[in-house]
Amino acid sequence: MSFTLAIVGRPNVGKSTLFNRLVGKKLALVDDQPGVTRDLREGAARLVDLRFTVIDTAGLEEATDESLQGRMRKLTERAVEHADICLFVIDARVGVTPTDEIFADILRKKNAHVILAANKAEGKAGDAGALEAWSLGLGEPIRLSAEHGEGMDDLYLTLRPLA
Ligand code: GDP
Ligand code: MG
Repeated sequence: MSFTLAIVGRPNVGKSTLFNRLVGKKLALVDDQPGVTRDLREGAARLVDLRFTVIDTAGLEEATDESLQGRMRKLTERAVEHADICLFVIDARVGVTPTDEIFADILRKKNAHVILAANKAEGKAGDAGALEAWSLGLGEPIRLSAEHGEGMDDLYLTLRPLA
């Protein structure tokens, strides 16, 4: 059986970088400017012997009349509805932010199956933030570096039983 994994989290944590790594093509835009990619983007992911569908979420910065919180809620709810599992990504270099906590609450209220990842965890700079991620109450954070391809083995071992 295959599954659909939605990558969720606030802008600039590295969702699109991870999406690109899983899909193996430059399908999603990655940029230093937060919120360059838009809306939901779907790709065919490969991780060792796993084949699954991955959804990248974006579009939180688009100028609308709605509040950031409102857009976060809508986008996350859409992603949850499309996906079997949500990979909730935080930035290990920044640590847990109030926006991360809002995402965690949305995911909890939607009863989503959540896997937590602390990205940008390469080197020592991610140690404190990865530890802080436990405070979200979503279980053990997987330490990832989407840019450098670190932690993909832990992601694989977490996803494998779900496939
Ligand atoms: P998104 O807004 O969550 O989709 O984030 P992006 O994938 O566009 O990445 C935002 C920025 O973080 C870019 O400058 C990326 O190069 C950078 N980035 C992504 N992953 C990593 C990582 O593992 N380590 C570091 N140091 N930077 C990263
Ligand atoms: Mg993006």
